[in-house]
Amino acid sequence: MASHEDVERRAALKKRLLEARPAFGALVAAMPDEDLGRPRSRCGSCGHPIGALENVPLVSYAVLRGRCSACGTPISPRYPAIELLTGLLFAAVAWRYGLGVPMFASLALVAGLVALTFIDADAMLLPDAITLPLLWVGLLVAAFGGFVSLHDAVWGAVAGYLSLWSVFWLYKLATGKEGFGYGDFKLLAALGAWFGWQAILPIVLLSAGVGAVVGVTLIVAGRKTMASRLPFGVYLAPAGVLMLFAGPRVIDLILPTIGQ
Ligand SMILES: [Zn+2]
Repeated sequence: MASHEDVERRAALKKRLLEARPAFGALVAAMPDEDLGRPRSRCGSCGHPIGALENVPLVSYAVLRGRCSACGTPISPRYPAIELLTGLLFAAVAWRYGLGVPMFASLALVAGLVALTFIDADAMLLPDAITLPLLWVGLLVAAFGGFVSLHDAVWGAVAGYLSLWSVFWLYKLATGKEGFGYGDFKLLAALGAWFGWQAILPIVLLSAGVGAVVGVTLIVAGRKTMASRLPFGVYLAPAGVLMLFAGPRVIDLILPTIGQ
């Protein structure tokens, strides 16, 4: 039974939250326009809005023969390439899980991770509009008996966020520079929610290893300097896809002592 004191405290908390709501509203209104669904996609050359029929993956590119229907400017082949990659990964997920909740959850994860990889590569940005839903969907999947226990998922999210957050601040205090962004913490928290805390260290080692090889190659090739910020999400997100398909084997390979 709730004591009289509990009831009073809860009422006070509720009142404070209601009073705070206008402040949250203002905060939301002040946020930059990062809505990915709006405005509609447009031709990068003439601004022609891409209609639904011109936006069918792969098919539209083939029908339009790789050109804007309004101005004829060639459309970058990276769009159909990304659509093809997503399609192949979707087929692999369907083949692996069969029809059911794990399949739909995995499709959402794969779609989010592919989008994050290319957005981070282009814009050095991992939008909250993708990382945060991935985080809570991962927790929900665990709560309904998905890939890992809810316990492992919650600690995975915490470990994912705090590990990169700690490195970020240590690096910033030591060098005054920012090694990566807050989106990276949120993405690793999401991957922790999907794959459990046991997966965090393997994912970080894998991403940092591949990232270091690519980074050194780019520096040697003169395309980047040591001071360039690392788009870590470009490596974290594909590591998440790898975990989906080969999780236990990846963990066994990288961390024989923790693997199970
Ligand atoms: Zn155009």
